[in-house]
Amino acid sequence: MQDWTMRVTHVIDHAAREAGDREIVSRWADGTETRTNWAGIRSDALKMAQALQALGLKKGDKVASLAMNHSRHLVSWYGVAGMGGVLHTINPRLFEDQLEYIANHAEDKALIYDAAFQPIIDKMKSKWTTIEHYICYDPADGFDGLAFEDWIGEQDGNFEWVTGDERDPCMICYTSGTTGNPKGVQYEHRSTVLHAISGLQPSTFNFSASSVMLPVVPMFHAASWGLPYAGAMAGIKFVFSAVNDPAVLHELMEREGVTDSAGVPTVWLAHFQYCDAQGLDLPKLKAATIGGSACPRFMIERLMKNGTRVQHAWGMTETSPIGTVGGPTHDWDDLTFEQKVDKTAMQGRPIFGVELRTIDLDDPSIELPRDGKTSGALQIRGPWIIKRYYKAEEDCADENGWFDTGDVGIIHPDGTLQLTDRTKDVIKSGGEWISSVELENAAVGHAEVAEAACIGMPHPKWDERPVLFVVRNPGSSVTADDINAHLAPLIAKWWMPDAIEFVDDIPHTATGKISKKDLRERFSDYTLAG
Ligand code: AMP
Repeated sequence: MQDWTMRVTHVIDHAAREAGDREIVSRWADGTETRTNWAGIRSDALKMAQALQALGLKKGDKVASLAMNHSRHLVSWYGVAGMGGVLHTINPRLFEDQLEYIANHAEDKALIYDAAFQPIIDKMKSKWTTIEHYICYDPADGFDGLAFEDWIGEQDGNFEWVTGDERDPCMICYTSGTTGNPKGVQYEHRSTVLHAISGLQPSTFNFSASSVMLPVVPMFHAASWGLPYAGAMAGIKFVFSAVNDPAVLHELMEREGVTDSAGVPTVWLAHFQYCDAQGLDLPKLKAATIGGSACPRFMIERLMKNGTRVQHAWGMTETSPIGTVGGPTHDWDDLTFEQKVDKTAMQGRPIFGVELRTIDLDDPSIELPRDGKTSGALQIRGPWIIKRYYKAEEDCADENGWFDTGDVGIIHPDGTLQLTDRTKDVIKSGGEWISSVELENAAVGHAEVAEAACIGMPHPKWDERPVLFVVRNPGSSVTADDINAHLAPLIAKWWMPDAIEFVDDIPHTATGKISKKDLRERFSDYTLAG
């Protein structure tokens, strides 16, 4: 067979050649819209690669982006890789010290940003030591810096993609770890292409030429779950929005004939609230990929009743990110609605290329059975799973490739993964494990609970016992007794929280997940009665 170096430039070449006129719609922060297509994305990416070289950038150099979802960001995914560079997608919600650390650690040479993030640039510019060029994607009138369209517009696009090894890096994302500095995860051309091919399976994203995808998952979070690559391979239409306002998303979904979307559960929550308040029906999507944190049952039920297939996915920045996706199983048609919801509430099955296993939480030498009952530390390996963090001295995967995810889960006999907790958050009571996540999920099922977080508190007799922190819905006066009565039929008696504390807010990380570390710090003086 022939040599065919797996580089992402093949992906954009294919999209432009085979689906060149398929549209890419962008709704910008100022409310305007632009339309291009795959041929246009490729031709701009060629100009961008040329423009980067004209600035003096070389193969291997890092180019940062601080941007939401739109076609010019998409151009940068292919333009930077096509110049042989590495795109560093920065999460604008990171804290200042993290922003400072990651751009300096990655040694970014240029940064391309949305006008909305100008205040971040103004604040950080003096702290970023390696960035020489700042380019704005969508400048307002009167802007006196470098504007993206003008900058690439100076080039003729007569450019040959920079070639190289398929193991060269093409993107870097930092994880906002709960301890220490963020860690860089470099995606290679090869890992990116393989991950995207696997994403095309019917049991993963299920794209066809008629798919119209509006990805709400940001392009700065874990490569937007690989959608901009898989979508290009399938030649789908993309609809991007630079704002995440449910009113805007809803209108775009209806008007542009969106069939597929992807995002974290809170995106759907906001969408439900918007539709309820406005008396609107949910958009008639064919499929919604939901991941990043556990998708609650009520969300699955509502979407399924709306005729939308829910693809509950699990992954992490370190896994490119897709590890598992929940598509219909072989017995799907024989299941009741309740059974379908139960199955969808789990995190799905591994896509081809990755392997999963669970090991004993106390004795890592014991690999656990896939019996649908035993929970343990979740490990993963495969061609798009991290081996070593960027610039780290040692590998983070073991000699057989197993990477410890920090998640705790159960593997079912049919391969379905059921995530139960994070290793650091699972509560050990009297030598037995309690899943903080399951307790939280049960609590948020109460109609008057807006948000809940459960942490283990030191206990003189049991080692640790669960304490549940609850944010009430506005105007609610729900009591601890009410919540206990709601929990009692849902969880084992010994899992019942020792205390329920009502709080005004629960701390979150930059990616919108509950930060148990901050919650623990906030309640470090908390004591439970013996
Ligand atoms: P990140 O690297 O920021 O994407 O975070 C990855 C982590 O998010 C995983 O290790 C899980 O703890 C959590 N996560 C991702 N997807 C899911 C899911 N479907 N259900 C529960 N937790 C999830």
